[in-house]
Amino acid sequence: MSKIILTGDRPTGRLHIGHYVGSLRRRVELQNSGQFDEIYIMIADAQALTDNMDNPEKVRENIIEVALDYLSVGLDPEKSNLFIQSQVVELTELTFYYMNLVTVARLQRNPTVKAEIQMRKFENSIPVGFFTYPISQASDITAFKATTVPVGEDQEPMIEQTREIVRKFNSTYGDGHTLVEPEILLPDNDACLRLPGTDGKAKMSKSLGNCIYLSDTQQDVKKKVMSMYTDPGHLKVSDPGKIEGNTVFIYLDAFCRDEHFAKYLPDYANLDELKAHYQRGGLGDVKVKKFLIKVLEEELAPIRARRREYENNIEYVYEVLKKGTEAARAKAAQTLADVKSAMRINYFEDTEMIQRQQAYFNELHKKQ
Ligand code: ATP
Ligand code: MG
Repeated sequence: MSKIILTGDRPTGRLHIGHYVGSLRRRVELQNSGQFDEIYIMIADAQALTDNMDNPEKVRENIIEVALDYLSVGLDPEKSNLFIQSQVVELTELTFYYMNLVTVARLQRNPTVKAEIQMRKFENSIPVGFFTYPISQASDITAFKATTVPVGEDQEPMIEQTREIVRKFNSTYGDGHTLVEPEILLPDNDACLRLPGTDGKAKMSKSLGNCIYLSDTQQDVKKKVMSMYTDPGHLKVSDPGKIEGNTVFIYLDAFCRDEHFAKYLPDYANLDELKAHYQRGGLGDVKVKKFLIKVLEEELAPIRARRREYENNIEYVYEVLKKGTEAARAKAAQTLADVKSAMRINYFEDTEMIQRQQAYFNELHKKQ
């Protein structure tokens, strides 16, 4: 069986280092591993509209930002199809049919949707489109017959929902093999599952404004790191400090490698030694933060430089998206045809049905 990747991001803002460690960095590795037959990376504008219906301009303007972030981290249009969700109309059609396979109660149990409804303060006025976005996400994944979905931990309930839809579809319609059950691919480093915000909140999120963006300048990054949440009980340098929930150390877990110590902080051999010193007392936040800035800079500087190049060639970026969208449409159209045939709603292609019905009426007329 082919190995196929589908994943994506909502164009609700520029991408941040949470996206990077949660999914982007992995995508680039997988892309370059040569182990995948097809790769589809989606800018989920239709999904973004489900909770930004009053601000389509925001979604529109952020498509280019996300595309620039994609190219600057190393997604390569020769190897990965970068596309815009709303332009693949087949996805909406699939969603409509999958809706029949999911109950309202099942959607209400989705913990990520629950948390997002609370965060967006929808209370009793949840848009139907937002409520059903896990179904639309199932269409996105299955339309490409994706086997592998590299995403952060918050997406786990969506992949589970997709798998249920696939099983339900396959057992209800056709020969039982039309759709493919995808596997989630989570980051293997715990700190990357759900990177917290610079304010220490549970998740770095465009909607919460607690992000370090991939496109932030060196100055922005410095400022953000220097004002980051650490251990509120660690007041004097000599005080013992806590590592758990300490955002600076969580970011180091996500980004730093032993060679960073040799290069920037040779008093310590590795992160464990730095953590031990912090916990004992005698190590100040500023020193750790300065180290984090250097570690981040090493990763972000080349990304920033590549982004600048693409920023000078916006027409080219739209060309890339157009080509990727065409490839995505071709694949999704094929799956939609399979789905409709399995559901027996391919009337005009079903010559057997047309002939059988004709024979039936011929028989009927003979008897009359
Ligand atoms: P929004 O607030 O608009 O939902 P977001 O910041 O949550 O934006 P998404 O576009 O919803 O970003 O998520 C895109 C991908 O990035 C998903 O795979 C998601 O799991 C991953 N991701 C987002 N935030 C984080 C994070 N803080 N840590 C790890 N992965 C993340
Ligand atoms: Mg999100």
